[in-house]
Amino acid sequence: MIQSLMMSMPLNIATLIQHADRHHGSVEIVSRRVEGDLHRTTYRELHRRARQLANALATLGIGPGDRVATLAWNGYRHLELYFAVSGSGAVLHTINPRLHPEQIGWIARHAGDKVLFFDSCFGPLAQAVRRAAPQVRHFVAMTDRDRMADAGPEPALCYEELLEASTDAFEWPALDETTASSMCYTSGTTGDPKGVLYSHRSTVLHSLACALPDAFNLSSRDTVLPVVPMFHVNAWGLPYAAPMVGARLVLPGARLDGPSLYELFEAEGVTMSAGVPTVWQGLVAHLEANGLKLSTLKRMVIGGAACAPSMLQRLQDRGVQVLHAWGMTEMSPLGTVCSLKASQLNLTPTEQLAIRSRQGRVLYPVDMKVVDEQGQELPWDGNSSGDLMVRGPWVASEYFQGGSALRGGWFSTGDVANIDQEGFMRITDRSKDVIKSGGEWISSIELECIALSHPGVANAACIAVAHPKWGERPLLVIVCKSGQTVTREQVLAHFADKVARWQVPDDVVFVDAIPLGATGKMLKGQLRERFREHRWPGA
Ligand code: AMP
Repeated sequence: MIQSLMMSMPLNIATLIQHADRHHGSVEIVSRRVEGDLHRTTYRELHRRARQLANALATLGIGPGDRVATLAWNGYRHLELYFAVSGSGAVLHTINPRLHPEQIGWIARHAGDKVLFFDSCFGPLAQAVRRAAPQVRHFVAMTDRDRMADAGPEPALCYEELLEASTDAFEWPALDETTASSMCYTSGTTGDPKGVLYSHRSTVLHSLACALPDAFNLSSRDTVLPVVPMFHVNAWGLPYAAPMVGARLVLPGARLDGPSLYELFEAEGVTMSAGVPTVWQGLVAHLEANGLKLSTLKRMVIGGAACAPSMLQRLQDRGVQVLHAWGMTEMSPLGTVCSLKASQLNLTPTEQLAIRSRQGRVLYPVDMKVVDEQGQELPWDGNSSGDLMVRGPWVASEYFQGGSALRGGWFSTGDVANIDQEGFMRITDRSKDVIKSGGEWISSIELECIALSHPGVANAACIAVAHPKWGERPLLVIVCKSGQTVTREQVLAHFADKVARWQVPDDVVFVDAIPLGATGKMLKGQLRERFREHRWPGA
């Protein structure tokens, strides 16, 4: 073996914004601020302010490895923190403001955060952190002096004043690429949330991969609007990948309803977007109700929860190409994206839709497999479902102060999936949501997708409820579209010929809304609790 003669250049998050400044300096970043107005800046200006912020962090006593928390929507100040905190060697800890205040306090304490930066609308949450995490030394309201009153009665520092008092002369330190750069806690639907600690290396590699043509297909010709929040697994890597390719960024702030998003998409000429199915439901409903089309949007990434084929079809009908993607906090988050292979381009639209509704193919150098209960790998036949395992350079190996996350060198995702002959993975369930009926497993996601294809159904969750004969049977929980009534019999008739008879739900209940967690996922645990005593028909 001999050593190569190539440069040793550690992968470093600061280089992403340095590159954007040098090669795409005049490209715009548009933000809908919590103050309500639209703000415009450029990568050059963002880089300048990130350097000022890095100096300001030093004056607050933030050093290498210190955790700097944020409670903020997608906006340019949050983006400045992304680069200033990680680039200067500290760790950016984005906290999800949709969590319960007690959970937010618990997370800030567990992470050992030293400073909290918060959007002025999150003053009450900052107070929860103040109470629960006494080690947090500074609270910084992300606004200017004139609007400090919006941040609440508790004393806080003012973001713009901190910047004004700092020079923009700052040299990004040459960090080892394995240095921790940011952290994010899992949504913790069962048990306490767990901290995932990303590195500069994992983040830059993830950005390179997510920009590839078979993934998000990002370029300097794109205008990217991440609907997915910057507190949900780093907005799926878009705040890093966009400057890396020089794409224009549009950051939507707090207004994620259908009409507000539509207005921003059209006014700013957005070409690419990403978010969870629940936000797209609002947008699609708005488009359909008003006969609208998205005139510039080309690609929309949907992930975080299963995207029903009916939703794919409705968006496709409005001229938008949907990319179904799967990942998780522990995977930075991207694992798979569903883009067709050359051999599939001549298939019929129905055949293509069936492929597109799968969660997709793995991104190199991540690898995946499905295993049975004994840990034996299952065949790639599109049918054999088992535990989904992954490994790769942007997959967590341990939780923050939580021990190893691996089993035999693989990360066990907690998802149940199968993989087809071409390597397209389909999630059939979260393992805790699988319905075990008479020794057979029924996929709750498959049943929900069928229910959602009924024209009167707005949302559907399928849960396991105890059954005296079969152990568990599927119960379908339905939300009707507004102004429409659908009967139990109509919903069940819709399943005929779509699944085997023993997989058809035994009963349907109607609710006003399905409870959603902090990242837009259905809280099936709550539904199981609510319908635990459900009486089956004829029982
Ligand atoms: P989080 O860490 O909050 O991003 O949640 C990750 C989990 O969300 C995964 O383990 C899956 O259970 C679920 N998930 C993410 N993307 C998808 C998808 N496209 N289809 C089905 N489930 C998904």
